[in-house]
Amino acid sequence: MQFIDLQAQYTRIAEKVDARIMSAVRSGRFILGPEVQELETALARFSGSSRALGCANGTDALVLPLMAWGLRPGDAVFCPSFTFTATAEVVPWLGATPVFVDIDPATYNMDPAHLEASIEMVKAKGELNPRVVIAVDLFGQPANYPQIADIAKRHGLKLIADSAQGFGCTLEGKHPSHWSDVTTTSFFPAKPLGCYGDGGAVLTDDADLAEIMESLAVHGKAMPRDIEKRAFEHDPKYFNVRIGMNSRLDTIQAAVLLEKLAIFPDEIAARNRIAERYNTHLEKHVDSVPQVIAGGVSVWAQYTIEHSRRDALSAHLKSRGIPTAVYYPIPIHAQEPYAKYPSGPGGLPVTENKADRVISLPMHPYLDEAAQDTIITAIREFQ
Ligand SMILES: *Cc1c(COP(=O)(O)O)cnc(C)c1O
Repeated sequence: MQFIDLQAQYTRIAEKVDARIMSAVRSGRFILGPEVQELETALARFSGSSRALGCANGTDALVLPLMAWGLRPGDAVFCPSFTFTATAEVVPWLGATPVFVDIDPATYNMDPAHLEASIEMVKAKGELNPRVVIAVDLFGQPANYPQIADIAKRHGLKLIADSAQGFGCTLEGKHPSHWSDVTTTSFFPAKPLGCYGDGGAVLTDDADLAEIMESLAVHGKAMPRDIEKRAFEHDPKYFNVRIGMNSRLDTIQAAVLLEKLAIFPDEIAARNRIAERYNTHLEKHVDSVPQVIAGGVSVWAQYTIEHSRRDALSAHLKSRGIPTAVYYPIPIHAQEPYAKYPSGPGGLPVTENKADRVISLPMHPYLDEAAQDTIITAIREFQ
């Protein structure tokens, strides 16, 4: 049994995806070929943003808006600690300081009350300048955007939705980009919308910001308005107006994603059916089954339960050929390189408690009922 069965998905789309890949290969336009723009248009339409921009991975997607906003030493970025490292990792790249915020015990996403307390703590101390909030759609479900966006706005902070795990999720029928300044995602193969290598994207309604991020992703290249302003006469490719990086989405990966996006809504529905079935059959046999925020639809990057004897359960399942995973055993604030960064008032008791109790079960759109029953039976029989 696979934890995430990417082969089953490939079998479904093999003919189409092979044709797309070979068409990209034959065109020879490996960098920023037409598939990239086609995908960007499709991603923007899918998530209701005016602009989507492909980039090299979900980590770069997070740093691009921070660079565009000119984050620098002395700036504070508020983010959860109960997330994949990349969420916080990009902040010290710019010399800025991550400030860790605790999570809601039911959804594992950023606790809005603790976010507000953390911003007030930083303001009261007066050493750091609060600039940005990064909310994460952990395990595929939307963060509490109405409250988080309201807090960010009242304190004059920008809001990034790190939707690497949650791309496609909705709250009250709207995508995270409805509330965020920038939404980021990752196309790492195991994410709900993954490609066949590394890839990522940023989405925004802010046309000026999109232009700066596009420039930053290609070595700070001059954009049409930069050229206009400066009356530059040479190849604009070698006219650099800011210090950027190299972060593009490969044409071949965009080609793969175009075929995957076409079946993505159907896959999200399948993931929800599978999660519902897990919930029904496991509710009485584990400490907790996942709870989705009211009005939210998760894309179920992970199906995560809690169990007081998590490690023993994992060993029991492994002995029956069932893979599990722990996301995340060591929260970021407890990792050595991040120990020097502050947490909000009272520390992160919920984060620390959850790290010892969570365990994720196999979850992907092609998990059939027979395999799911094997998992459910094994959990019910665990003593
Ligand atoms: C995977 C992930 C990222 C980083 O994506 P990469 O494409 O691997 O760089 C960022 N944030 C979260 C929450 C993730 O799960």
